[in-house]
Amino acid sequence: MDFLDPIDATNFDPETDPGIDFYRHVNGGWLASNPVPAEHPAWGAAFEVHVRNEAILHDLLVDAAATPGPRGTPRQMVGDYFAAGMDTEKIEATGISPLDDYLHKITAMESQQDVGAVLVELRKVGVPAFHSVGIEPDFEDSNRYLVYLAQGGLGLPERDYYLRDDDRSKALVAAYVDHVAAQLHNLGEGGRGEAEEIVELETRLAAVSMPAEEHRDLSKVLNRHDMGSLDELMPRFGLTAHLRELGVTSPSVSVDNTAFFETLDGLLADTPIETSRSYLRWHLVRRFAPALPHTFEEEAFDFYNRKLGGQQEPRERWTRVLAAATSDIGELVSRLYVDTAFSPEAKERCERMVDHLIGAMARSVEALDWMTEATMQAALEKVGTFTHKIGYPEDWRDYSGVAVDRTSFAANRIRAAAFEFDRKMSRLDDPVDKGEWELPAHVVNAYYNPLHNEVVFPAGILQPPFFHAAADDAVNYGGIGAVIGHEITHGFDDNGSRFDEVGRRRNWWTEEDRAEFEKRAQVLVEQYSDYEVFDDLKVNGRLTLGENLADLGGLAIAYDAFVSTLDGSTPVVGGFSPEQRFFVAFATIWRMNYTDEYLRMITNVDVHSPNPFRANGPVSNFPPFAEAFGVADGSPMRRPADRLVDIW
Ligand SMILES: [Zn+2]
Repeated sequence: MDFLDPIDATNFDPETDPGIDFYRHVNGGWLASNPVPAEHPAWGAAFEVHVRNEAILHDLLVDAAATPGPRGTPRQMVGDYFAAGMDTEKIEATGISPLDDYLHKITAMESQQDVGAVLVELRKVGVPAFHSVGIEPDFEDSNRYLVYLAQGGLGLPERDYYLRDDDRSKALVAAYVDHVAAQLHNLGEGGRGEAEEIVELETRLAAVSMPAEEHRDLSKVLNRHDMGSLDELMPRFGLTAHLRELGVTSPSVSVDNTAFFETLDGLLADTPIETSRSYLRWHLVRRFAPALPHTFEEEAFDFYNRKLGGQQEPRERWTRVLAAATSDIGELVSRLYVDTAFSPEAKERCERMVDHLIGAMARSVEALDWMTEATMQAALEKVGTFTHKIGYPEDWRDYSGVAVDRTSFAANRIRAAAFEFDRKMSRLDDPVDKGEWELPAHVVNAYYNPLHNEVVFPAGILQPPFFHAAADDAVNYGGIGAVIGHEITHGFDDNGSRFDEVGRRRNWWTEEDRAEFEKRAQVLVEQYSDYEVFDDLKVNGRLTLGENLADLGGLAIAYDAFVSTLDGSTPVVGGFSPEQRFFVAFATIWRMNYTDEYLRMITNVDVHSPNPFRANGPVSNFPPFAEAFGVADGSPMRRPADRLVDIW
């Protein structure tokens, strides 16, 4: 057979029965021989691809820095950005001077009346203090943009970090206070007393913030308000005028959590101006610490990556500069990447797979026995208008408004943030740009956008072990096919199913179908809520519901798409039938070793379940898996018929 077989027997754990723990059966050997490197918080398939993509980009960045070419070209911008980020001598010499303007404005605030104006300046460079302001397509008319106001202003990942009172959580908050104090001290602007006041203020914001599982429920967080009525939420602060100052011209905005803004108004009025100054200094330095001298960067690493994330050592500097470039001028970096790492043949094969997967989704909807005709027709209409983007954008983003030079890494980052804010704000009245990508093409990720009813797969994830250009369909459908299916199914998860075929929030379900969907989804909530991560921590089945639904649906439609490609010759390769190879590839993409700290953090905040459950949860609900591996009734990998979750 003319392909490279990516399935490697040494990655398996033959001692573990596939019917007991399929994830470990397929990955046990790999897990044992691939511990988490000290400079990563976890290590698995997504990290392997990420590091491989970085290595490709490293050479391209070094090259661009050596010969940047004419001013204003992508090569000059990437080259100078990289050179400035690598020039640690200059970064030390420049100190915090790139922040000076902002620090002076903060210091000059005399009363709470002055906070709004300074907040405008900080927001324009992406400092997320007090609350956040985003600009995305309008949930009621996806051809237009809308401003989304959201709760925010916290330096810890989620509200519960402030509010839990077990010893571990209290120790983490104490470490956070130390960290805030250390950064204020590094700025020469205070210490422990100020840090305690900041954390107390954030704790009060946390108390009125929605929990993560509630905040991902779009039916709760999408609420349109007239601009004029916003002053009722924050009468003393003057929220309407604040937004006008930022450049918001539209008649209405969306507000996720009105209780948060009402409380914030009182908090701002009651907080001493000294505390507001400290708070804004802290969020300014938090935002730009990775671009400042070593003491700032090391302090931020120690708290956020080491203590909170479980990563023992920093990555090499060039990888950190690359990560900054990815967030600041991402598509310029992507342009270098795709020329080298993504062939037209790979793009064509992936496009074919996406078409097959969309076809499988349509067949799956048509075959549903629990859905009434009316809802089914609407669902089919939605599948019929699905669009996809594969590899990289047709038109690259224009960054020509960003001045990038070698004078200061932090100044480059500030200008890039200002450019991004301005880019989004200035097109608020324009029609939505449907060709735009939310992720740079070299990142290892994919997404479904309900407002465009589209799935997007950057070239960065269309790589082994997700996608092997030289491997058989079984491996590719079990790998990237399941990821594609996952993204497609997001159009029909607990959130996606509330948007219609043109990306409007609209209810196209009958009441009885919605009730049946929720009943079935509830079984999945219970299944995942039983999964134990640590003795004292289980998976949050509600928080992860949308992703678990997509994992299960994605597996089912990828399998159907794969089976439809089988021509009956069913060769056995490497001792596995094509069906077995499909499931082995599926379990392989989830292989992951975690540090305890990181695993604990993502279990608290991530909408995805930890990886072992992303493999075992779906297969245990999927009868073709039990059939392929001869899994007996009553085995952990074969859920009892009355608890089987079957939606798509
Ligand atoms: Zn997802």
